[in-house]
Order: sequence, then C-alpha cells, then structure tokens
Amino acid sequence: MRYVLSLAAALMTLSTVSHAGNYSYNDCHVHVVNFMQQGEGLDALLKSMDENNINHAMITGIGVMKKWAETEPQKPKYYLSDAAPVYWYSGTDYRLLNEYKSLKEEDQKRLHPFITGFNPTDLNAAAQLEQMIKTDPKVWQGVGEVFTRHDDLSAITEGETPRANHQALKKLYKMAGKYDLPVLLHSNLTSKRDKGWLYLEELEDALESAPETRFILAHAGTSGTLHRWQTHEDLNKLIDKLLTKYDNLWIDMSWSVLEPYITESETPGIDVDRGKTRKGVSINWMHLLEKYPDRFMIGSDVVGKYKSQGKILHDFDELFDHLKPETVKKVAEENFLSILPKWRQEELKNSQ
Ligand SMILES: [Zn+2]
Repeated sequence: MRYVLSLAAALMTLSTVSHAGNYSYNDCHVHVVNFMQQGEGLDALLKSMDENNINHAMITGIGVMKKWAETEPQKPKYYLSDAAPVYWYSGTDYRLLNEYKSLKEEDQKRLHPFITGFNPTDLNAAAQLEQMIKTDPKVWQGVGEVFTRHDDLSAITEGETPRANHQALKKLYKMAGKYDLPVLLHSNLTSKRDKGWLYLEELEDALESAPETRFILAHAGTSGTLHRWQTHEDLNKLIDKLLTKYDNLWIDMSWSVLEPYITESETPGIDVDRGKTRKGVSINWMHLLEKYPDRFMIGSDVVGKYKSQGKILHDFDELFDHLKPETVKKVAEENFLSILPKWRQEELKNSQ
C-alpha cells in the first residue's frame, strides 16, 4: 500500500512537471532593436529561441528613434528616460533586412520580418512600403508594429498624432491586403485617464475599412497603465464583442495583457468569489480563449535584448494549464503562423 501511494505521488509529480514544461511557442511580437535603434542581433535571438522551445518569431524594428536632446545631460536608454521627442525612422527596416539576409536559410525560415519604419500620418506611406515589398517580396511577411494611440509614446512623438483610422493608414491597410500581409496594429482602446473606450471608434473604422486585411491588435488594445481605470471584465467583454463582429481581427496577448487581465499574482489561493481559479487565472478569459481558439496569439514584445523572452512566454504556461490541449497548440503556436502570407505558409508546409 505504501509502495502504491509513493508511486502515485511520484507519477503525480512527474505529470505536473512534464505538463508545465512541455509547451512549444511561436513569438508573434519581437523588436530586434530598442528605441535607440540598438539590439543584440539575430544570432542572440535565435539562441534564446533554441533555449526556450520557441520555433518561430515575428521580427520587426522600431518605427521611431529617441532623440538625445542637447538639453539632456545623459544619453537616454528608453523613450521615457527624459522628455525629449521621438521621430519616425525608416533606417530600422534596412538594418533588419541586412541582418536577415545574412542568415543561413534554415534560420531565415524561423523568422518572419515585418516592415515598421514609416510615418503613419503620411499619405505616401503605402507607396513607400509597396516599393520595399516589390524590391524584396520574399522577405516581408507583414506590416507593423504600427504605432497609433500609445499614451506616453504618442505624447512625445514629433508631428501629427497617428490614429488607427487615419487616411494614410487606410491606404496602407488596403495595400497590405493586396499583398496578403497581416498588420500588427498598436491602438490603445482609450487614454491613460478616460474610463470609457475613447479610441474604440478609430479601431472599428480601421477594421471596417479593409475587411480583406488581417489585423492583429497589439496587447489587446491595452498598455501598462490603462487597467488602472477599467475593470478586467470590461476588456474581456469588449474583446468578445470585437471578435464576434470582425472576422479580420486577431488578438496579441503580449506585454500588458496576461497580467493583470488574465492572471493576478497578488491573488494567490482560492478566490472563487472574484471569478478566479486557484491559480489566479480569470475564468472569463479562459472561456473567451476557448470560444475563439483560433484568434489569440502570444508574444514577448522584447526590444533588442532577449534575456527575458523565454520567461515572458513561459509565464503563459499558467494560463495554458487551464485550457484544452488543442486550444493551447493554437494559441501558443499555430495562430501566429496562420496569419502569415499564403506563400510563406506553403513554404513552411513543404519544408516539414
Ligand atoms: Zn511592441
């Protein structure tokens, strides 16, 4: 009897460990540089991917450059390091292009470059991007991250404030659709202090303007601060509505979504009254993912450094432990690949 019990205990331990550690991931949101346009390089990214069960990653630059203003005594490290502005910067795409082209073919297959270095308020942006796509049609696999409403970042961006339904972007979405390219769009659903959905109309207008174009809403429309003014369930209900209404919408759960919206580390233990499971995973979010298993994906949103990439993706394990295995497979891996251009998906199928 004692033997049976200890064997059962051993098996339980084994199954817990192997279950949690056994997920593979695709990362739908990787910046290869920071806001100063510096990064560790694609070899460092590939090493991080190898070490953390990450098979594929979207890669992009950063569409703005932080200025080191003469008034600032110290070179900034981040866009919020000081009050100096950021400006639109196209060089980011060329750096990515050169690095990508220098990789071995087997490494290129795992990385999926998106174009991001353009001014989203410039009516000429669509033509600028089309030229790049025509020059390297077998490199570019998407557009973005397109920065529109982005609270503090918007506030320090030089020039006109971009919005999801700007005429320049509507032209760009149609162009992306023509080349079968998905668009990763950053459009906060509201401002830092507004309790309603101040910018929802802009997003809906954008989605309606290009029904043939696949949109990925970065961070589910949130940022690091918006949750202070909305309840977690408000966002859950809104995303539910948007996914029902728009077939061309996918949700990126990177950065500010998992915590605090889906998991809450500060509520350990059983807290059923607040709609949490033992592990602090929101039941409503679990239901939402099971209702739309094809429409969510995960990303790390790292910026040029990869030390934290593995941990950020492994943090989703807590949520995955509560989902059906087939849903996990889709959210962790397949959904990101499913939004890539058809030619790229064919190549991936053929190389398997
Ligand atoms: Zn990002």
